[in-house]
Amino acid sequence: MAGIDQNKALILIVDDDHTMRMLMRASLQQAGYEVVEAENGRRAIEQFGDLQPDAILLDVMMPELDGFETCEALRKLPGGAHTPVLMVTGLEDLESIHRAFEVGATDFITKPIHWVMLGYRVRYMLRASQVFLDLHQSQTQLAEAQQLAKLGNWVLYPEAEILSGSPEFFRISGLKDSVSGATLERFTDSVHPDDRESFTLALEAAIRNENSYSLDYRGILNNNEERIIHLKGEAFSSPAGRKKIIRGFIQDVTELRKSEEQIRYLAYYDSLTGLANRDLFNDRLQNAMSAGIRQNRIMAVLFLDLDRFKRINDTLGHHAGDLLLKIVAGRLNDCVRDSDSVARFEPNVPQACVSRLGGDEFTVLLTDLAQPQDALIVAQRIIDSIPRPIDLLGHEVSVTTSVGISLFPSDGKDAETLLKNADAAMYEAKSRGRNNFQFFKETLNADSSERLSLENDLRKALERSEFLLHYQPQVNMKTGRVIGAEALLRWNSPTRGIISPADFIPLAEDSGLIIPLTEWVIQEACEQNKAWQLAGFHPVRMSVNISGKQFSQQQIAETCQRFLEANGLEAQYLEVELTESALMENREVAREILELLKGLGLTIAIDDFGTGYSSLAYLKAFPIDTLKIDRSFVRDITTDPNDAAIIRAIVAMAQSLELKVIAEGVETEEQRDFLQKLGCNEYQGFLFSRPLPPEEFAELMTAELAQWGPFLTCIGSD
Ligand code: C2E
Ligand code: MG
Ligand code: MG
Repeated sequence: MAGIDQNKALILIVDDDHTMRMLMRASLQQAGYEVVEAENGRRAIEQFGDLQPDAILLDVMMPELDGFETCEALRKLPGGAHTPVLMVTGLEDLESIHRAFEVGATDFITKPIHWVMLGYRVRYMLRASQVFLDLHQSQTQLAEAQQLAKLGNWVLYPEAEILSGSPEFFRISGLKDSVSGATLERFTDSVHPDDRESFTLALEAAIRNENSYSLDYRGILNNNEERIIHLKGEAFSSPAGRKKIIRGFIQDVTELRKSEEQIRYLAYYDSLTGLANRDLFNDRLQNAMSAGIRQNRIMAVLFLDLDRFKRINDTLGHHAGDLLLKIVAGRLNDCVRDSDSVARFEPNVPQACVSRLGGDEFTVLLTDLAQPQDALIVAQRIIDSIPRPIDLLGHEVSVTTSVGISLFPSDGKDAETLLKNADAAMYEAKSRGRNNFQFFKETLNADSSERLSLENDLRKALERSEFLLHYQPQVNMKTGRVIGAEALLRWNSPTRGIISPADFIPLAEDSGLIIPLTEWVIQEACEQNKAWQLAGFHPVRMSVNISGKQFSQQQIAETCQRFLEANGLEAQYLEVELTESALMENREVAREILELLKGLGLTIAIDDFGTGYSSLAYLKAFPIDTLKIDRSFVRDITTDPNDAAIIRAIVAMAQSLELKVIAEGVETEEQRDFLQKLGCNEYQGFLFSRPLPPEEFAELMTAELAQWGPFLTCIGSD
C-alpha cells in the first residue's frame, strides 16, 4: 500500500491468547497505530481481504492453523505477497526462525515481548516494507518504460565475461534467459554473422580506450527474425580493483530505421514513378561533377518533356496520365540501363540517374562519357523508345518526347547552369517540331529570354485587341468563283509589328493562351461572315484553324455552337480545319469531338494533308468532309513527278471516300491547271489572292457580286 501514514497504519494482531492481544493492542495504539484483532489464523485469513492491513503480527503457536501455516496462506492471498508479517515466537530456537522466514515472514520477535520495543519494531518493519514497495514499483515502471521504448540496459564485466541486463535487454537481444548467466560470447552469437566483426572490434576498442561507443547491428532472434538494434555503451574501470566494466543499453530500432528509410525515400524519390526526384538528381549531379572535375570526365544532362502530355491528362483523366508517366519512367530506365556500349563507368559509381522533376519533365544524367556524341546515342534511344504505342485503360495512345542535352564541362560547371541549358535545348527541340533532340548552344539563352518576353506580350495582346483576322479566298476550280474563306490570324503588336502565326501559335499552345485565342477567332470569323451575308454578298463558307492543343477540349463543339447562335450564322457556313496529328494523337476522343461538331451541321477539313499519317484507314473512321493538300506538294507539282504522283493518289483516295479536295498554296496558273486535271475541286493561294484584311475581302466580294450576281447555292458546287 503506497503512501502509508504512520498514524493511520492498520495492524492486524493474530493471537489465540486474549491477554496477549490486549497487551499488543495497548502497546501499538500507544505507538500510534490502528489495530484490529483476529483470534486465530483462519479468522485472519478471512478478514485479510476486507481489512487490507499494513502489517500483521502473527503468533506462531495457535491451535488449528499455526502461525507458519497462516503466514503461508496469507502470502498467497491477493495483495498478501508484500504485506509485512512479524512472527511472534515463543521458542527462541533456530529451527522456528528458519521456518518463519521460509514461509515468508518479514521479521520475528520473541516472547517475552519488550512492549516498548514492539512499536519500534513495527515502525521499522513498515518503513523497510515501504522502501521495498517503492523499489519494486520503480523497477516495474522502468521495465514497462524499457518495454515501451524497446530499450534494455546491460552491464558487462569483460574479464569475467559476465553479462547482466534488464528483462527488455534479454528480449531484444534474443538471449535465452537472464538467470543462468549470460556471457559475452552468447551476446556476440546473437549478432548477425556479417556484423559480428564490427560489433567485436567496437567493443574491444571501447574496453581498450575506456570510452563510449555506439553502433547499429542486425540481431537475430531465436525465431531467426532479423531486427536492427542500436547499441550504446561506455567502458570504464571500477574505482577499486581496476576491474573493467562496460555498461550501456540496446534499443530495437527496426521500426524507426524503417520509417527513416521511408522518409528518406519520400524525400529523395518520386512516389509515382519511383525515380529519383529533383533533390536526389541534384545531389547525384553535384557528386558526379566533383568527381568529374578531378578526373576530367565528360558528362551529359538530358532534359526531356513529353510532347502534348497535357492533352492525355485532359482527355483520358489523371489516372491515365499517371499510368503513362510510370510507363515512360520504365522506358527511360531501360534506355539507360544498357549504357555500357555508350559509356564506360567505374564500378560502384552510379552509371546514370533518371529522375522526374515534376509533371511530365524528366532528366537523365550520364556520367563518364568517352566523347560528347555518346549522349546522342542515349537520346536517340529515348526518342525511339517513348513513342511505342501504349494501352492506357483500353485506349491506344502514343506520345513523343523532346530532349535537350547539355554537356559538362563545356555547357556549364554547376548543376543549375547545366539544367537550365539542357532545358533551353529542350525548348529548341520543341520549337523544331518536337520528337527530336537538340544539343545546347550559347545562342539558345538569348532565344529563351526572347521567347519569355514574347510570351508576356502575347498574354496582353488579347486584352489590348492586337489580334485581327485576314481572310484568304477559296475558289471553285471549275468556275473560278469564291466559295469560301480561310480565317488566318494576325498579331499586330505595337512594339514588334505584324507577327506571323507560325511564330506565336506554338507559344500560345504551350502557354495555354490558345484556348481564349481560338474562341476569339471563332467569334470574330462567325461575326464577319454573318456581316458579309447581311451586306448582300453571296454566302461563303468560313474556315477556322483549330490547334491540336485546343482540340482536346470537349468544349470546342460547344464554343462553335455558342458563336453560331450568337451571330445567327447557319452551321453550313462554318468549317473547322484540323491537322492529322491532332486527330491521331488520341483517335477515340477526336472521333467523339468530330461527331459532336458534325452534329452541329458544320464541315470538317483536314489541313496540311500529306505531311502526317495520311492513312486511309483513319479517314474512314472520322466524319471528314474535305482534304486540304499541303502546299509543299503543290509547290513542285509541275516539276517533281513524285509530288504529282502523291497528289494523284490523294485525289483518287478522296474521291473513293467522297471527300472534297482543296489545294493550298497555289501560286501559278500551271499549278492550278495541273491540279484541276488531277481532279481537285477547289484551291486557295496567292494566284487568286493573298489573305486579305476584311475591307479588301469585302471589295473582292463586291466585284464577285457584280460578275456573278447573288447566287445562293455556291457552296460545294463544282
Ligand atoms: P495553314 O492553315 O495551312 O494556312 C495556310 C498558310 O499558307 C497561311 O499562312 C497562308 O498565308 C499561307 N499561304 C496561302 N496561300 C499561299 C501561297 O500561295 N503561297 C504560300 N507560300 N503561302 C500561302 P499563315 O497565315 O502564315 O498561317 C500559317 C499557319 O498558322 C496556318 O497554316 C495555320 O496552321 C496557323 N494559323 C493561322 N491562323 C490560325 C488560327 O486562327 N488558329 C490556329 N490554331 N492556327 C492558325
Ligand atoms: Mg489552315
Ligand atoms: Mg494548311
